[in-house]
Amino acid sequence: MNLITDRWIPVIRQNGQTDVIAPGQIAEADNPVMEINAPRPDFQGALYQFLIGLLQTSFAPEDENLWLDYWRQMPELKELQSCFDKMAFAFELHSDGPAFLQDFDLPDGEIKAVSALLIEAPGGKTLKDNLDHFIKRDSVNQLCPSCTASALFTLQTNAPSGGVGHRVGLRGGGPLTTLVMPKLMSSTLWQKLWLNILNQEELNSAEQIDAQVMPWLGKTRISDKGQITSPNDVHPLHAYWGMPRRIRLTEVAEEGNCDLCGCHADSLFREYRTKNYGTNYDGAWLHPLTPYRFDPKKVNPPLSLKGQQGGLGYRHWLGLALQDNENGDKAAKTVQFYNEERGRKLSDSGGAALWCFGYDMDNMKARCWYEAQFPVFYLSQQQRENVMVCTGELINAARETVKMLRNEVKAAWFRRPEDAKGDMSQIDAQFWQATEADFYRLLEQLSMLPGDIRMAPSEIYANWFKTLNTKMMQVFEAATLTSAPEDLDLKRIVNARKSLRNKFYNNKNIKALSAKARPEEVA
Ligand SMILES: [Zn+2]
Repeated sequence: MNLITDRWIPVIRQNGQTDVIAPGQIAEADNPVMEINAPRPDFQGALYQFLIGLLQTSFAPEDENLWLDYWRQMPELKELQSCFDKMAFAFELHSDGPAFLQDFDLPDGEIKAVSALLIEAPGGKTLKDNLDHFIKRDSVNQLCPSCTASALFTLQTNAPSGGVGHRVGLRGGGPLTTLVMPKLMSSTLWQKLWLNILNQEELNSAEQIDAQVMPWLGKTRISDKGQITSPNDVHPLHAYWGMPRRIRLTEVAEEGNCDLCGCHADSLFREYRTKNYGTNYDGAWLHPLTPYRFDPKKVNPPLSLKGQQGGLGYRHWLGLALQDNENGDKAAKTVQFYNEERGRKLSDSGGAALWCFGYDMDNMKARCWYEAQFPVFYLSQQQRENVMVCTGELINAARETVKMLRNEVKAAWFRRPEDAKGDMSQIDAQFWQATEADFYRLLEQLSMLPGDIRMAPSEIYANWFKTLNTKMMQVFEAATLTSAPEDLDLKRIVNARKSLRNKFYNNKNIKALSAKARPEEVA
C-alpha cells in the first residue's frame, strides 16, 4: 500500500457518509470530507498529525496572505494531489526499498507480534506478572494495512522508553499534542488541518525530500555508542517525521479481517522485526504542535508537556493555551502564532478552540489516554499580559483552595488523618469539575477587556472568590455527609468544616483575591 496514492484514511463526509480516502482527497470540493473516523482515539490524533505533516512538508504557504487565501478556499484537488505525489516514493508501507517510518535496512532483529506496535500493548514483564488488563494478550493478532500505518505513526510519534536502547520519541515519551480547531460545526477537515499549518516565514520548507526530513530514506542514525541526534543534525521538518524505533514490517499475502477495525483486507500484518539503539533524539527539540516547559535558568533543554494523572483541566489552560510564568510552560508554536497573529483574521469566522490530547505514561506503561478542549483567543500583546497575570491569580487561588479542601476532608474522614493513605484525587477532581464552567465564563470576559485596562475589574475577582468559597463547601459537604470510610463522626466533621472556613479566609492568596474583589481598594 502506498500511503499517498492509495485510499486508506477512514473519514466522514458532509452528508454523513463514511468513506476511505487517499490524503489528497481532503481537497475534494464536492461532498467534502468533514472529519477523520479512526477506530481508536490515539489513531485519530495520529492521522491528524500525519496529514498536517504532509501539508507542512509539501504544501506550506510562502506567507500569511497565501495561507489566508487557502483558508478561505481550499486548493484544487489536482494542485494538492500533484504536490503530495512528489513524495509518494517515500510512503510505501511495505517494500524492499525505503518504507514509511521503517528502518532503511534491518537484516536481523527480534521478531514481535504486530500488537506490540500498540502503545498500551502489554510488555514482556506485564505478561509475566499477569497484568495485561488494558489489552488482553492474543486479542489483536492481525492488522489491516490502514491500522498498521496508523499504529506505526502513533508509536513513532509517542514512543515511550521500551527497554534498553529502545528510544523515546522526538518529543519524549507520551507528549501532549495541541491542535487549533475551528469552532464552527460546518468546518471541513481541510480547515481543521490548515489552521495548524505554519507559513514558510515561520518554518522553513525543504528543498528536497531526503533523510534529513524523513529519516527512513537513509541509513538510521543509530545510537549504540550513545550518539545523539539534535535539531542541528537534520532539517526542522524532521520534527513531524521522528523515527526513534527501528522497525521493519513483515506483510503476509493472505486475506482476512483486521482485529482492530474489523475491515476486510487483501493482505495483513502479523509480525515485525525490531532492534534497539535507533535514533536517539536529544537537545533543544521543539515540535511545533506540542507545548513545552522551559528552564528559567536556560541550562536544560525544554521538556515537552506530558499527559498526567488526574487528566487535563482549566488549571493547565495557561500553560497549554498561552504561557504560565509560574512554571515556565509555554503553548505550542502553532498556538502561539494563533494567539498573536492568525486569530485576528479569523475572528469573523467563529473563532477556534484548542484540542489537546496524549497518553498518560507511567514510564513504559500506558495508564490512560486523555483529551480535552480548551478556549483560545486572539489577544494583543498587552491583553495577553493582562490575561496571563489575572488568570494566573485565579488558578493559584484555586490550587490553594483544593489543597485546603483535600486536607480537611481527610481530617473529617479519619481519626488520624496524617496516617491515612487513602486516594484523595477524587476530591480534587470534583472541585476542578465544579469550578470549571465559572472559570471559563470569567476567562471569556477577561479576553474581551481592552489592553489598556491593566487591572481586571473587581467583579471578576469577586465572582471567583464566591465560586471558590461556595464550591469548596459543597464538595466538602457532599464528601463528608454521604461517604465516610470510618464511622461517621459528626463532631470531627463539624471541626474540620470550621477549620476549612478559617483556613480559607486566612490564606494569603485568598486574602489577596478578596482584596481585589473590593472596588474601593482597586481605585
Ligand atoms: Zn484495520
